[in-house]
Amino acid sequence: MAKNTNENKRIAVKHVRDRAKSAYEKDTQCYVCGTSQDLELHHTHSVTILLNEWAARTGYDISTDEGILAVRDEFIEAHRKEIYDDVYTLCNKHHVKLHSIYGKAPTASSAPKQAVWLANQRARFVNGETNTAEETIKSTGFSFAKFY
Ligand SMILES: [Zn+2]
Ligand SMILES: [Zn+2]
Repeated sequence: MAKNTNENKRIAVKHVRDRAKSAYEKDTQCYVCGTSQDLELHHTHSVTILLNEWAARTGYDISTDEGILAVRDEFIEAHRKEIYDDVYTLCNKHHVKLHSIYGKAPTASSAPKQAVWLANQRARFVNGETNTAEETIKSTGFSFAKFY
């Protein structure tokens, strides 16, 4: 019998992502710098935190595969805005940078700050630095990287 460890929570989030993935409208370029390479999706609301809070609220046991698979659609339905709307497509560099500032799993209260930070970073690029080096579309591979 699996215990409700962090490892299991990680698996629960993975199941949610696998399910939600196909419906994402990913951009073809980084929101900040416009590169088309190494793109990743960033949620301003950590899906891990949302899921854990929701499970605590509802009392659902998401510590097993069966447990999360049975309720993941319900979770996604209840969090469509956070999962599908409050997202940014970022290159790996800017994704890493954001998480270095706001933490690996940013708290919900930091979501507005993240939006401001991203807009500021973007303005910098628009007003000055241009995206010269990486014009070639080598790979538009898409991943969630190692962030929650
Ligand atoms: Zn970027
Ligand atoms: Zn992220």
